[in-house]
Amino acid sequence: MRNLIALSACYLVISTASAIDAPAEPKGLPAIRPNLKAAADAEKAKSGVAVPAEKTPAAGAPKSTTPAIKPAAKAVPERKPSQREQEAMAEAELSAKIAARLAEMKANQAARYAAAAKAKKDAAARAAAAALAAKAPPPRANGTVWTYEGELGPSNWGRINADWAKCGSGSRQSPIDIRDGMKVELEQIGFDYHPSAFNVTDNGHTVQVQVSGGNYLNIGNRMYELQNFHFHRPSEERINGRGFEMVVHLVHKDGEGRIAMLALMLERGKPQPAIQTVWNNLPLEKGETSAPSIVLDPNDLLPQKREYYTYMGSLTTPPCTEGVLWMVMKEPVQASPAQMALFSRLYPFNARPIQAASGRMIKESN
Ligand SMILES: [Zn+2]
Repeated sequence: MRNLIALSACYLVISTASAIDAPAEPKGLPAIRPNLKAAADAEKAKSGVAVPAEKTPAAGAPKSTTPAIKPAAKAVPERKPSQREQEAMAEAELSAKIAARLAEMKANQAARYAAAAKAKKDAAARAAAAALAAKAPPPRANGTVWTYEGELGPSNWGRINADWAKCGSGSRQSPIDIRDGMKVELEQIGFDYHPSAFNVTDNGHTVQVQVSGGNYLNIGNRMYELQNFHFHRPSEERINGRGFEMVVHLVHKDGEGRIAMLALMLERGKPQPAIQTVWNNLPLEKGETSAPSIVLDPNDLLPQKREYYTYMGSLTTPPCTEGVLWMVMKEPVQASPAQMALFSRLYPFNARPIQAASGRMIKESN
């Protein structure tokens, strides 16, 4: 009888556990089974009566208990079973139920473990794919849009396009704060400029003036031909920490493609005739070019004194190409406040920040 109660309690416990369906550890099941067997063994030893179904059926094989019940029923067909026999039969039936329930739980558990294993495997596969993607080189940057402020501004130029890497990694970049120059007898710059046909473009970064061929700058036994000139506000370069309201950059190239840049600082003063000619011929729309029928003499832009600073630097806009010979005239050129104001309406700020000089040699005229 005690055995029956123990078995009933076991069944109740198992049913409750499976009803909750908590993800039990696999060790949970074996823990129940030995207890069950121990109870049955104890009862057998006490009563001495054979209990056919006492053998706890192997989990997962509930059918094997059915034949065990039948012989017990057959053993006493001719008389009414005693109370003990009835208890034994009830025990056998309960044992079979428990075995079936255990088998069901085991199957459920196996299904859960299989699902968990599959999820783990899937996660591992995803992690492996992500690791592979991280290892692969990033797509080559090929942006073409840059600005002077915000996300596409100077600090990010080097990342926008792979060909602009020098903007971020270069060590001989422009502009710089020109100071501690070595005062030497610098060679005079030879200007061979003439009144020339020109056109004016508002290219979205500055006002640029294209000049027809035949204007040369001679320095270091090389002839550089004037290509164009353009404006920045404020001046990009500084001289001993001092910036200017604007600067004009005249871009020259020699036969081998080497670039020589002439910088003319602009300060407030009297109107500048060449600049006025440019302003008079500004295109009405950004991206458009106006090609007037008049001529412009680049000589009119130059200051009277020809002393200058010189150093090796770069273009101050993408692609920030290095190996550029810079010449910055010491004497500023004057332009009227109205001329300055007109440009500031188009471009209030279009200057790259100062770059590290990194110990570069700067020479200046005595
Ligand atoms: Zn420039």
